[in-house]
Amino acid sequence: MTHEAAHQTACGAIHEALLAEPLLTSPDQVPFADGLYFFYEEGELCNHGSKGRIVRVGNHPRSQGGLVRRLKLHYSGNKNSSVFRKFLGGALLRRADPNDPCLAPAPGKGHWERQDEKACPRCRPTEALVSALLRVHFSFRCVRISDMNERNELEARLVATLAACRVCQPSSSWLGQYAYSEKVRASGLWNSQYVGDPTIDQLTLGRLLALVSASP
Ligand SMILES: [Zn+2]
Ligand SMILES: [Zn+2]
Repeated sequence: MTHEAAHQTACGAIHEALLAEPLLTSPDQVPFADGLYFFYEEGELCNHGSKGRIVRVGNHPRSQGGLVRRLKLHYSGNKNSSVFRKFLGGALLRRADPNDPCLAPAPGKGHWERQDEKACPRCRPTEALVSALLRVHFSFRCVRISDMNERNELEARLVATLAACRVCQPSSSWLGQYAYSEKVRASGLWNSQYVGDPTIDQLTLGRLLALVSASP
């Protein structure tokens, strides 16, 4: 099997395996404390995910027991507590007005898209829009992975593998096309870290599938 075919097969296996996990819409529904989460977005389907394309892989990389807290920061935190929210809000602002002053002087350089810069009165309402967008148009699945090192390694390999799949492409109306990150736009994932990294190998894929089977 060529390298290209190997990670496309892996992308299909990942999408398929995750269907065994319940589709959730609130962090309070997660029944365990440590694991990875996989977001789905309304209207985003692909050949490997005919019931839903994975649009983001996430983790709580440095804290044990932090899965639910991490998800809550996405659902109801703010743009400085979640790069996912920063991406989503920036894309909403840019889609509405590419010249929005809160995104100036350049993609990724405006106060909305810069880490730790405060939202101004003009972009502050975007926080509520991001929260509503997540509640209404996104859902997620989780896999329990208790070991931190294993979780961090799997996060990186999964992002890289899903990003590298040439079979799965975002829809023509995907919101992520308005993200400032070139890696988001090119990968079709609301991820930038690990895009372009080495993809998953067969042994690690087998371990992931075992963890999915064992996940409550
Ligand atoms: Zn602003
Ligand atoms: Zn794929």
